[in-house]
This record gives sequence, structure tokens and C-alpha cells, in this order.
Amino acid sequence: MLTRDVMRSTTRGFERYYNPVVGNAVRLDTNTNVLGSNPAAYEFLKHPVDGLDGYPNTYSDNLRDALAGLYGLERENFVAGNGSDEMLDLIFKTFTEWGDMSTIPVPSYTLYDYFISVNGGKTSFVDLTEDFQLDVDAMLKPKSKIILIPSPNNPTGNTFRSKDLEEILTNFDGIMVVDEAYAEYAEDSMLKRVNEFDNLIVLRTFSKAYAMAALRVGYAVSNLNVAGMMNDVKIPYSLDKISELAATAAVKDQSFIERSVSMVKEQRPLLMDGLRKLGFEPFPSDANFILARAPIDHKVLVDGLKEKGVLIRDFGSKRRTENCVRMTVGTKELNDMLLEKMAEVIDGC
Ligand SMILES: *Cc1c(COP(=O)(O)O)cnc(C)c1O
Repeated sequence: MLTRDVMRSTTRGFERYYNPVVGNAVRLDTNTNVLGSNPAAYEFLKHPVDGLDGYPNTYSDNLRDALAGLYGLERENFVAGNGSDEMLDLIFKTFTEWGDMSTIPVPSYTLYDYFISVNGGKTSFVDLTEDFQLDVDAMLKPKSKIILIPSPNNPTGNTFRSKDLEEILTNFDGIMVVDEAYAEYAEDSMLKRVNEFDNLIVLRTFSKAYAMAALRVGYAVSNLNVAGMMNDVKIPYSLDKISELAATAAVKDQSFIERSVSMVKEQRPLLMDGLRKLGFEPFPSDANFILARAPIDHKVLVDGLKEKGVLIRDFGSKRRTENCVRMTVGTKELNDMLLEKMAEVIDGC
């Protein structure tokens, strides 16, 4: 039998990604949109797409044109692909050599280290401050090619201060990536400022506010120079035609996004209050999810909720989020149900 020594040295230690048994459980563990499938994309998919024999547009021009219109930028400011995860992979493929260092904050998105390692890189983990903000000097210290920052941050939920992001951008020789997977819910974004900076890449996704995670669509936005380099390296046709056209339809219907965002903004403080009443310590959120320190053991809570048919995500064994859980902000009905079941699990302890 082959040992794992046959694997690429940087991938030998990998384990499978989060893949829970779901059954009929209510999913408040993945930060997707609880209002259900994006209506414009769903409507588009009711009609069969013909031309399955032909390739999709090589660089997703339909979608990039729609995005350019939405944000007042040009088609060539955009790189579109198979989820923002493809964009992350592409960034390391395009801009790093074997052994190069990249810097990420702790805690942040678990997949960053995966994409750095897959591409033969090394990761510098830099702790956020006590209140989960950026330690600018510490972020700039490692000799890195790429600095990767999600804002709003996952799993903490807060955005980072624009002045901190700008300070890193202007003092860093490499490329800074701001992953804005949850930016629709937040007040601040760097997206419209990509032409101001030599070295800024902003990532966006259709998996969260757009309610299209099943279709795997994401994109990068940068100045024409950097976006051009990325498009040169990207796998041609990586975004399939059906997903591209469904996403294009979704961009043209902004009313669903507005409705989704206002629901979250209305419900988020109510869920926070409910959590506090149960003894949780919730952290401030600018996203559609809340990280909270649990009043009982995190694993007992998460397993207890799972038995009652609700999934939330457990971050309680990780450094900096000790005994914390993360849950998606639901509708009023979903949040009341969640709080009720939480109360039952806590009472049963
Ligand atoms: C959910 C999420 C994404 C989305 O990735 P896709 O590949 O577009 O589904 C990206 N970054 C962060 C921080 C996320 O939480």
C-alpha cells in the first residue's frame, strides 16, 4: 500500500473539509441566505439552456459585463470563476512561487491555509487584537507575497477599519486580497476603489447574499493590470455556461439582495439580544452570522441542537474562539426556533 509520502509534501497533512450528515436538519451552519434560492436565477433555470454541445464563454463575458454595469467599472476589472475559492487558488497560482510566504489573520477563513499549502506556499498566521481587529504592524512584519484578509471576517463577523486596510495596502509591496464574501451586509467595501491601488484584489461571491451557493460562482475585482494577469492564468471555461447565465440574471435583479440584507439587519440585533438573555456572549457582526461564546460546553450545545434538527458551526476547540459557536442569522421564525431549542439544551444540562 502506498504511504502518504507519495503526496505532494505540502498536502500530506490535509484532512477532509466540513461535510456533516445533514438529513432534514435546518442549516444555520454555512452562512448562506435563509430566504432560499435566488428568484431570478431560479426563474432562469426553469427554461432549458440549449447549446450544451458548445463551450461557455471563455472568460464569462456576459457575467463580467453585468458586474461592470452594477459597479460602474469595466469588464476587464473582473475575473469570474467557480466560486471565490477558485479565485483564491488562482491568486496563489498567479502570484506566488514554491515556498513563498503568505499572511493571514487568526481567526479567519479556514480554507486560506489550504489554498496557500496546495500551491506550495507557507502561511504566516497573525493574531487579531483582543477585539478582533487587525494588528497592522504585525500583519506587515512577515516577508510575504500575499496578505489575505476577509472583511467582514469569518468567523468573527466584524469588518475591519478602512484606515487599517489602507495602511496595510500602502505599506505592503505584495498583493493584498480583501475577501468580501459578506460585504452586501456591511457598510464598508473596497470594491469600488480597486483602480486607486496597484496591489488590491477584492473577492466577491454568489454563495451568500445572492443565495446561489449550489451554482459555485465567484469573482475577483482589481485594477486592469492585475486582473489581466489573473485572467491570463485562469483555467479557461472554468465557470460553466448555466451558472454564468444564472448569475448574470441574478445581478440584474437587485431587489432580492436588498430584501435579504434588510431582513438580516432587522433580525441581527434581535438574535443578539436573545442570545445574551440565554447567557451567551455574542460578538459584534456586520455579516449574516453571529459568533458567540456559549454559556455551556460548545460541543454539548452543538450536538444537542443537532439532535433537535438544527445545525450551527462549532468553533469552540480553536484558539481565540474557545467555546464559541457560529450561527447564520435567520428569519424571525427561524431565530425564535433556534433560541427556543438552545434554551432546551441549556436547561437539560
Ligand atoms: C463563504 C465564503 C466564501 C465563499 O466561497 P465560494 O467559493 O464563493 O462559495 C469566501 N470567503 C469567505 C470568507 C467565506 O466565508
